[in-house]
Amino acid sequence: MSLPGAPYVAYRGDELHLEGRSLSALAREFGTPLYAYSRSSMLDALSGYERALAGREHLVCYAMKANSTLAVLQLFAAAGCGFDIVSGGELERVLAAGAEPSRVVFSGVGKTRTEMRRALEVGVRCFNVESSAELEVLSEVAVAAGRTARISLRINPDVDAGTHPYISTGLKNNKFGIAHDQALASYRRAAALPGLEVVGIDCHIGSQIVDASPYLDALDRLLDLVEAVEAEGLARHLHLDLGGGLGISYTGETPPSAEALVRSLLERIDARGHGHRTVLFEPGRSLVGNAGVLVSEVLYLKDSGGGKNFCVVDAAMNDLMRPAMYEAWMNIVPCDRAGRATPRDYDVVGPICESGDWLGRDRKLAVTAGDHVAVLSAGAYAMSMASNYNTRGRAAEVLVSGDRAWLIRERETTADLLRGERLLPNDAQSWY
Ligand SMILES: *Cc1c(COP(=O)(O)O)cnc(C)c1O
Repeated sequence: MSLPGAPYVAYRGDELHLEGRSLSALAREFGTPLYAYSRSSMLDALSGYERALAGREHLVCYAMKANSTLAVLQLFAAAGCGFDIVSGGELERVLAAGAEPSRVVFSGVGKTRTEMRRALEVGVRCFNVESSAELEVLSEVAVAAGRTARISLRINPDVDAGTHPYISTGLKNNKFGIAHDQALASYRRAAALPGLEVVGIDCHIGSQIVDASPYLDALDRLLDLVEAVEAEGLARHLHLDLGGGLGISYTGETPPSAEALVRSLLERIDARGHGHRTVLFEPGRSLVGNAGVLVSEVLYLKDSGGGKNFCVVDAAMNDLMRPAMYEAWMNIVPCDRAGRATPRDYDVVGPICESGDWLGRDRKLAVTAGDHVAVLSAGAYAMSMASNYNTRGRAAEVLVSGDRAWLIRERETTADLLRGERLLPNDAQSWY
């Protein structure tokens, strides 16, 4: 039986498997820390969206910042997915993975002129514009390049998605999007600017949302605006992009399935007479989050002397930021549950010189040094947020399908980490 929140992770006998592969065996083969992803889990998650959207003009744009590893992007591109990008780097990455530029939407509050020029040159489907200042610059860049930028306005619908403040994006005092009450004026301006073609409206109200109601509230506000914009003749056939944000189960959360969420939104769209519109979604976490695990080796068990036990593992906050950054709870389980050791309550911590470097607190584990543990639901905002803090190379990654496993990213070496840095010349050392 698979573990809660990790559809393709299950014990076979005492050994934890991802699809058909033992995670301890993968750890021995590829070393630790190691990210492993289930291909079936990702494709199943995508098909939930696709089933609900079948028979209507639509595009699912994977928000690649959740996990931007090339092979992951390649998998989604081959499955017909579009992409939501937030930087010029992501644009080059997704093109390198084989994506069609015409299936890419470009979001983000701080697009540079260089990024805009490049996106126009390759022909992205749409810019999701986040401010009226950006409208002016984009029009200018497009005119200079002799092109037309297709745009959607990202509206901040001022709804509370009820998530962590760092990942809530749909409230008024938030840097994202154009305030709902300024939106019509922005559409008027966009329609008047020479380099732009207004093609859509979008929102993205937050992340790890476990309830359909904020989506329905945001949708209603968007549809009110669409009606006003089209009534004024500022645009026709605006597409509706409802963003991403659907949550996954880390610790027993019960978000609606993607299929159920999308169906309820489509029902509302149809009921309000907008069934003819092209519909876009930008899911990130819900496509990849439950597909990944981070496998790590137990280095030391120690007792603080103050009644606390620490399980020091070789993965750290540089590999997996979510616990340190959002105090996120992620399930940690042994890769071998034969359990010769006595179960104890541990704080599972990494080697980094920060007290904030922990992966889990107060976890009952029966482990000894040399055992492997797996952090579950580590497919999203995990490897893509990894850093080199403490001069630690980033982890290796493997993709698993059935009983096959492919190395999709080599572990970073020390040479990789030093590349590009320069020592000062000798004469610079006499400055003091
Ligand atoms: C991050 C982001 C998403 C994806 O969010 P998830 O919570 O991972 O689904 C979608 N759209 C935009 C604009 C984003 O910034």
